[in-house]
Amino acid sequence: MLTKFSLHPGTAPTRVVSGSGILSAELARLLAGSDQPTAVFVVCDDLVYRLHQRPLRTAVPKSAQWFLFRSAESSKSETSLHRILAWLHRLHADRRSLLLAIGGGVVTDLAGLAASLYMRGIPYAAVPTTLVSQVDAAIGGKTAINFLEVKNIVGVFYAPRIVVCDHDFLTTLTEPQVRDGLVEAFKIFCVYDSRLWRRFTQTHFSRASVTDFHRLIDAAVRLKTDIVNRDPFERDLRRILNFGHTAGHAYEALTGQSHGHSVAFGIQIALELSVRYAGLNENDREQCEAVFLALYSHFDFAGATPRRLWNKIQHDKKRQGDRIQFVLLKSCGNHRIRSVDYREFAAAVAAVKRRIA
Ligand code: NAD
Repeated sequence: MLTKFSLHPGTAPTRVVSGSGILSAELARLLAGSDQPTAVFVVCDDLVYRLHQRPLRTAVPKSAQWFLFRSAESSKSETSLHRILAWLHRLHADRRSLLLAIGGGVVTDLAGLAASLYMRGIPYAAVPTTLVSQVDAAIGGKTAINFLEVKNIVGVFYAPRIVVCDHDFLTTLTEPQVRDGLVEAFKIFCVYDSRLWRRFTQTHFSRASVTDFHRLIDAAVRLKTDIVNRDPFERDLRRILNFGHTAGHAYEALTGQSHGHSVAFGIQIALELSVRYAGLNENDREQCEAVFLALYSHFDFAGATPRRLWNKIQHDKKRQGDRIQFVLLKSCGNHRIRSVDYREFAAAVAAVKRRIA
């Protein structure tokens, strides 16, 4: 499947290609295009490299330089950014060198930022290898590192030339990594398309059901590119993709749980706030809650108290004075943005804790 998104009207759009066994052909096409790079620099998750060495070595030109590193949330840092920039400099990357990011959302966020900064921006391509990154992180041109313990607070919008979502990478994901990806995909359906929400949340996903993954990834990619094309710089509609992320990012910073697990927590809080302040009916809330609880049901309410969460949320980009903007649901597929104060937030966390802890 091919779809496109564009950050700046008038510039060449980013091609997003999704399918099985497509990496070699897509990279060959990119490298043979009219704008051929002078050299290829690959920033790659070392686990992905070990698991998929053969197809990667076939697809990537022999002359490419490789920067392998162990990717984790802690590597979305100034230190890693510095290392990548120093490596590009040391190997004389120039303005027409291509930076190719291969890995999950950590790698695409980090390498995308490095590509945007080096020489004020060099060509960049992304090969997302997790479900999270294929349905969400690598689509849409947002790059970032974490800074002073705040998630994604330093970053830019920077469009890759191409995003290649080769589903073959997903065969080596663990069950929790698959669940993390389902959280992000379901989130997009939940806030933007009730029909797809109904369709995919009734499917039982497991690592074995690859056909369902193909359809799910294609649907999520189409929705996300549609949202990005309508609002590339998150001034309005694109904010809905932050559903569950405000409390989720705070939870992630406090507990160190995975991104998907943390977003599932944040979604529980957002659903409670939606019933209280956006008119979501109890029935819809219960149905949405059940889908996310089926993926993650145990949350660390002792480590993530309302006060601690709120203190972390104060650094959020969505703060407005002493209130924080939350994406809420009026109904499935229908959102409302409303600001919330500490008292309202704490009451919602307490209610969720009473219900599911
Ligand atoms: P990740 O990159 O840390 O990958 C998770 C784990 O999966 C890592 O241990 C990695 O080594 C491993 N892995 C990667 N590919 C694999 C494969 N094919 N087989 C087996 N293991 C594999 O994280 P993620 O879950 O992909 O993404 C989360 C990150 O994405 C967060 O930092 C989040 O902030 C970011 N994100 C960004 C956006 C955006 O719009 N830029 C959107 C959503 C999430």
